[in-house]
Order: sequence, then structure tokens, then C-alpha cells
Amino acid sequence: MLSNDCIFCKIIKGEIPSAKVYEDDKMLVFRDIEPKAKVHLLAVAKTHFKLLEEADGNSKDILSYMLFKIPEIAKQNGCDNGYRLIINQGDDAGQTVFHLHIHILGGENLPW
Ligand code: 5GP
Ligand code: ZN
Repeated sequence: MLSNDCIFCKIIKGEIPSAKVYEDDKMLVFRDIEPKAKVHLLAVAKTHFKLLEEADGNSKDILSYMLFKIPEIAKQNGCDNGYRLIINQGDDAGQTVFHLHIHILGGENLPW
């Protein structure tokens, strides 16, 4: 299920443009608009939920699918020497978009 007032749902629906690098029926991967590394991609499930603890059966299956699909997508997009995955969860982590997303950072040697 997608939400009407979520920026990532709007990107999934094509209502807001994005630089897509991968898409299938379960997930979308696009470039972060304010990259924090040479390569900075965002992987989102095509279903709206904010936190890992809110994932239901279907979202859990999609999350697992995404984690196993990401290595191939990362390598095809300049992260063939390693990359970092980040999932911000809530306020203390500075989560700003409340649609669960996996940051994929790489393309260079990353400072912590
Ligand atoms: P968070 O802080 O919630 O983990 O990450 C949200 C990320 O989404 C940020 O890195 C931010 O730059 C990115 N972002 C926010 N709005 C947009 C947008 O409209 N398009 C794209 N491509 N990225 C966005
Ligand atoms: Zn959403």
C-alpha cells in the first residue's frame, strides 16, 4: 500500500521525478538528491511503512528480497569495491522521510 502524502510513495508512483537506477515490482532504487558519498542510492520497498518494527509479513518478505538484491545493484552502480548500508530508524537517527529506505553509500573509501 502506498500513501498519498509521502514523498517516496510519490516517487514510486512517478508523481515526483527521480534518477532511477533499478526498479521491479517490489522495489525501487534511485539516487539521493543530496548525496553524502560519490555513490549514494536509496532503496525503497513499494509499500509504505516507517520502521522495521512496523513491517508486516509482506513487507518482511520485500525487505529480505531487497537485502539480497542490493549487492548486484550496488556493483552495477560503481560500488564494486564495497559499500555501506544504513537504515535510519526514528528521531535520534535523524530519519527525515518516514518511508523505510536503505541508504547505499560507496564509490569511494568512506570515512565513518
Ligand atoms: P533519512 O534521513 O530519512 O534516512 O534519509 C532521507 C534521504 O532522502 C536523505 O538523504 C535525502 O537527501 C533524501 N531525499 C529527500 N527528499 C528527496 C527527494 O525528493 N528525492 C531524492 N532523490 N532524495 C530525497
Ligand atoms: Zn511512502
